[in-house]
Amino acid sequence: MQCQQRWLNCRSTNNNMPDFQAILEHIYQDAVIASDKGTVASYIPELAHIDKNNFGIHLRTSDGNDYGVGNYNKPFSIQSISKVLALSKAIALIGEGTWKRIDVEPSGHPFNQLALLEIENGIPRNPLINSGAIVIADILISNLKNPKEDFLNYVRDLTGDETINFNKDVAHSEKVTGFKNYATANLLKSFNNLNNPVEDVLDFYFHQCAIEMTCQQLTKAFFFLANKGICMLNKTRLTKSQAKRINALMLTCGFYDEAGEFAFEVGLPGKSGVGGGIVALLPDHFVITTWAPGLNKKGNSKLGMLTLEQFTSKTKLSIF
Ligand code: GLN
Repeated sequence: MQCQQRWLNCRSTNNNMPDFQAILEHIYQDAVIASDKGTVASYIPELAHIDKNNFGIHLRTSDGNDYGVGNYNKPFSIQSISKVLALSKAIALIGEGTWKRIDVEPSGHPFNQLALLEIENGIPRNPLINSGAIVIADILISNLKNPKEDFLNYVRDLTGDETINFNKDVAHSEKVTGFKNYATANLLKSFNNLNNPVEDVLDFYFHQCAIEMTCQQLTKAFFFLANKGICMLNKTRLTKSQAKRINALMLTCGFYDEAGEFAFEVGLPGKSGVGGGIVALLPDHFVITTWAPGLNKKGNSKLGMLTLEQFTSKTKLSIF
């Protein structure tokens, strides 16, 4: 009842569009008081001290309007959200060749699971689990002149923001503790699905994951995927079909063994990271980013999932 009344209050008076700012504020107020905010990822030691009371939401609509609440302008570690941007760069560089080395099926397993990779002869199930993202990193290293710098510039160009950078402490922290990623890269190498040295590929991958961005910067960076592949800031990035495919992969694989739950509750293509961020989008309508560092058992942001479920329920804006 209270919710319904709030929702009515959230309708703007002069047109039929929802009052997005009011909706975000209501959702924020409801979620911020949650007693269980999940657990901050500690397997990357440098992320363990992030305060789980951080919470931000940012929305950008296709007509170019921005709405934000909470810590939406505070940088955080984008971690696996970077896998989507890396994939888009790989597709821009080598197109269909990407799919000779990586499949496009949901894994139904955690992001760092190794067993499937061995059973399936070194072909990762999809580019959004770690094994697939490590193959994408290998593709980028082979096709970029200065891989780390060029990739960072790609992200900066998409966002129109030169201040975006790697957090080198986070990259180093993962480098000295990322044994499972080393195991994954070695397994890929043993199946001849890695062309560059394991050390080089992982150095790139750890830096890619250690990029820091705000919610607002992420909504800008992902805008081209809600805009038929076209980045408004500069030249076309992808074809409409390529953007469609990346969105399909986010919907089916973006949340690992919780992809079904995210589609069921939220109904949008999206991608999470263990830094607590989630980016989700509705093609031709909006991009929304949430950041709340406390994770659920599957490694996805607890408040972020809740926020996005509330957002699509209240606005009735989802792909379904
Ligand atoms: N860098 C992290 C890892 O490889 C990314 C994982 C994630 O965000 N789900 O473990």
